[in-house]
Amino acid sequence: MFTLPPLPYADTALDPVISANTLGFHHGKHHKTYVDNLNNLVKGTDLEGQSLEAIVQATAGKADKAGVFNNAAQVWNHTFFWNSLRPGGGGKPSGKLGEMVDASFGGYDNFKKELAQACVTQFGSGWGWLVADGGALKVVKTPNAETPLTKGAKPLLTIDVWEHAYYLDYQNRRADFVNAVIDKLLNWQFAEKNLAG
Ligand code: MN
Repeated sequence: MFTLPPLPYADTALDPVISANTLGFHHGKHHKTYVDNLNNLVKGTDLEGQSLEAIVQATAGKADKAGVFNNAAQVWNHTFFWNSLRPGGGGKPSGKLGEMVDASFGGYDNFKKELAQACVTQFGSGWGWLVADGGALKVVKTPNAETPLTKGAKPLLTIDVWEHAYYLDYQNRRADFVNAVIDKLLNWQFAEKNLAG
């Protein structure tokens, strides 16, 4: 059985960029529903007892397993998202990641623009990502529950751009949400750990 992992910070810790109200619904309702759905869907099947990553990989791109994939990938994506944020985060990373940002995007400002653009132009629901791929950093976007995990890239950071991620705090202003997250919350220490892992 999968369980909802607790948030890695207090529900007020990301305020005012992300309010406790938004975190309460997003983590306590949306993320939890994906966990509950996944448990119900795999119960009594040959996927029961497998790791979350194994279920995501085993069901990706299979039309008859779309329900399992959607819920498993959303569980994984959301846990990754909470860890991609931290109070007092954001801004230009230092050290190796800072050098890689410069080498891959031609500077932090270009990186920021590219990530914000990917998040804002993801039509409908989805995710914006920073990934490591072939020794370079790349920005990618994925629709709905899709995740770079199944496409051979190594996810470093993500931003949830489903409306439920920002609507209570920002209504239709997705760009304001995304820019505030990039400036104030991105957890570069988590990215560094993922790059090394
Ligand atoms: Mn979400």
